[in-house]
This record gives sequence, C-alpha cells and structure tokens, in this order.
Amino acid sequence: MEAPDIATDLAEARRLPHAVARLREACLAHSDTLPRLDRGEPRKARCAACRLIRSHCMCALRASVPTRAGVCLVMSEFEALKPSNTGWLVADVVPDTHAFAWSRLHVAPALLALLDDPRWQPVVVFPGEFAAPERVVSEIANTPGRRPLFILFDGTWAEARKAFRKSPYLDRFPVLSLTPEQISRYKLRRSWHAHHFCTSEVAALCLALAGDTHAAQVLEATLDVFSDRYLRARQSVAPDPGGVAQVRLEALREHEPDARRNA
Ligand SMILES: [Zn+2]
Repeated sequence: MEAPDIATDLAEARRLPHAVARLREACLAHSDTLPRLDRGEPRKARCAACRLIRSHCMCALRASVPTRAGVCLVMSEFEALKPSNTGWLVADVVPDTHAFAWSRLHVAPALLALLDDPRWQPVVVFPGEFAAPERVVSEIANTPGRRPLFILFDGTWAEARKAFRKSPYLDRFPVLSLTPEQISRYKLRRSWHAHHFCTSEVAALCLALAGDTHAAQVLEATLDVFSDRYLRARQSVAPDPGGVAQVRLEALREHEPDARRNA
C-alpha cells in the first residue's frame, strides 16, 4: 500500500466545506474495515454536500449563520459516516464548528490546542447527574473577550457516556446540564427522535442559551427539513416544497441578513 500523499490530503481538506465533512473523509481514508452504516437505506447515489439522495437534496435551502458561540463535536469512531448523523447539520449552520474523533488512547493535539485557546470558554454539555456536583452549571458564564465553546459528544448514548468518563482532559471544565423543563418543552414538538435528543437539537438549545437565537432557529428548521426529506427518501415519497419545515426555513433565511446562503 502506498504512503498517503499529504499534499493531496491537504488540498482535499481545504476543498471540503466543514469539519465534519473533513472528519468523514479522514475516517474513510484511514479505516481498513468499515461497518455497514446504511442498512435499510435507499441504495442510490447521495449528494456529497447534504448526504440526502439526489432527488431529495436540500442544498438550495442550506444556510450558515455567524455566531458568538462555537461548537466542538467529539464524535464516535464511525459517527461521521452515518447518513443520519446530525452533527453534520451543526457544522453546516455554525461556521465555528470543530469536530474530532474520540479515542481513549489518542487525543488529537488540535483538540487540546482548541481547549487551551484563551479566546474560547469551553463547557461540556452532559447530564449533570453523571458529573461531580461542583462542576454542574445550568447557565453560560459571560466572560468578556471569551466566546462560549460547547463541547458535545456525538454518538450513541453508551458511546457518549464512555467518552465523558474517559476523557480526563475535559475534567477541568464545567458541565452544562440542560434542565428537564428545557428538554420537555422541546420534546413536545419533536417526533423523529422522540426518546433521544439528537446532537443538532442539543446544539440548538445551547446556541439559544448563549444568545445566538437566530442560529438556533435556523438549526432547528434545518433539522426539520433534513428529517422530513430523509424519511421521505426512505419511503420513496417526493419532497414537499410547500411543507411546514421548508417554509419555515425559507422564512428564516429571508429575514436575516447575516444568514449566508450556502447554495
Ligand atoms: Zn445536497
């Protein structure tokens, strides 16, 4: 096997739109055996940018919104490869999204550098019952000159718990525990992930807490459109351009000059 061409890798990395896309490419390039992650999915070509099958592509609707807060996704080994992963949507909407593959044995130097960067104020987002009580907070500290950096685990619940317990370099940061009231209010509107908060929902709640309200709304609406089209693709039903989710996302794009259209 030939040694990887680093120059080509770098050029490729710059071509890709965001951190999760780059992590996906790295995962594809460096894994010898990949699990099947698309069982039950349509066996049709997907759009490389939004990962939906081409007839259901939502790229014309995508928008990124500049935010004060940043997001740091700590992703399970194959999470970036899953067509249903919603960390991808976070990276679509929030330009300052960082993504790293979690490993118990190897911590990416770039992750440690990010955590030490004085421009950021990292906070780990996780249920408070699993953390030492003195670390648990329910609000974002507002420190002048430092932007909130939400560290989210992106993977199954079991994987997230393991990563939380076995990442000692995160132990020095507070743990933001979202309250039951915030979660239940949110869940009333949700059906796709009825029993489990997905990563983009958690990120939207965090952005709202940090005052990035418009980005939070765009992210919510983006998930709604993605979920709708994803399910329709599985059921071989055409996308609905007049559907509630799409109309809401289009309205949010229209009414915010800061929202940069990706299309
Ligand atoms: Zn697309």
